[in-house]
Amino acid sequence: MGIAGKLLGLVFAVSGFLILWWGMGTNDALSLLYSFIGMFVMAMGFALLTSGRQQKEEKPPPPTVTEIRCSSCDFKEIRDFQKGDYVLKAVEATCPKCQGAMTIEGVYMVREDTEDKDRI
Ligand SMILES: [Zn+2]
Repeated sequence: MGIAGKLLGLVFAVSGFLILWWGMGTNDALSLLYSFIGMFVMAMGFALLTSGRQQKEEKPPPPTVTEIRCSSCDFKEIRDFQKGDYVLKAVEATCPKCQGAMTIEGVYMVREDTEDKDRI
């Protein structure tokens, strides 16, 4: 919920209050209904205003990638980290360029904010 949600919540709260105030000021049969609607709209507005405050933004664990390098040529490939990957492990896949054997050269954690790579 961004600033638009907060603004919407404020609009709801204020208009709810106005409907409530106007509903209580009138003496016709619908005044009770207006008061009720006013309270409801106001409650919705406050719910919008307060939403997002309690819930913390949970960051997913940083994605881990595996860098595979061909031992014959300089072909490099980055793929998602798979369980059991470790540095210098020979992978089953062969190099798409020269069909040579490929080994894992590095396992990295990718930081989302800086795009920097951390070597494990
Ligand atoms: Zn190769």
